[in-house]
Amino acid sequence: MIDGHCHLLPPHLRVPGSAAWRDPWFSACHGGERPRFASGEDVVKALDQAGLERAVVFGWPFADPGLLREANDYTASEVSRYGRRLIGFATVNPSSATSPAELQRCQGMGLVGVGELNCDAQGFALTWEGGLRSLLKRCEEMNWPVLLHASEPVGHAYSGKGTATPGRLWRLLEPLLQAAPELRLCLAHLGGGLPFYAHMPEVKELCQRLWFDTAAIPFLYTPGAVRVVRELLGPDRVCFGSDFPLLAQGRYRAHLEAMTEPASQWLEPATKSWLGIG
Ligand SMILES: [Zn+2]
Repeated sequence: MIDGHCHLLPPHLRVPGSAAWRDPWFSACHGGERPRFASGEDVVKALDQAGLERAVVFGWPFADPGLLREANDYTASEVSRYGRRLIGFATVNPSSATSPAELQRCQGMGLVGVGELNCDAQGFALTWEGGLRSLLKRCEEMNWPVLLHASEPVGHAYSGKGTATPGRLWRLLEPLLQAAPELRLCLAHLGGGLPFYAHMPEVKELCQRLWFDTAAIPFLYTPGAVRVVRELLGPDRVCFGSDFPLLAQGRYRAHLEAMTEPASQWLEPATKSWLGIG
């Protein structure tokens, strides 16, 4: 099985007081006593422990293109170190003029997708226009999968929650799926609950063209949540993602066991079809 959602951070950016901590979203999310950071080796060890084969790895959704570049360099170096075990994504800021060049540079370094993008962290408009539109159109042309952060409009507050809620996503996704029909877009964290509206036929139709990952759901939902999404959308729409190192893969056991069939039978094909691998 593949873990589709793991964050890496270069060692020099993990030190409190480093440039990473000047990014307001990063420092808000890592303000606890013992913030968790991962190297490629940490991810591979965690995969071994959980009995998983491969992981999608990427840096942090920094706003600053310089920090993004450093994180992308590190992702690429860890991907080449661990070969097949790690699948590397580039993180870019859609509102930055340097994104197209960075995307091309990352492709040259062996990265194969984009994510995790985060409109609150990076300050881009969550609408089908400007930088986000060009970036996503470019990803469609490159046949690159994209991972976008999403969050719940209700429920408890927590650092990192943000405002990429189903209502805002809907306004982005309707024109997006018209204009970029081949784009393979996964909404993280069960799409902030967007699939729960799939009793509405038009929402169901839209959701069936997207993917949703399970990242952080043990913090958010009771174990039946994934089963409900699968029942509403059919198979192959939910990808396994852990949000490691925030949560280890083993923390998802209760959620995966709440399914009626083994998780590998339905998560694996979904993750592979999102990534575009056989
Ligand atoms: Zn996220």
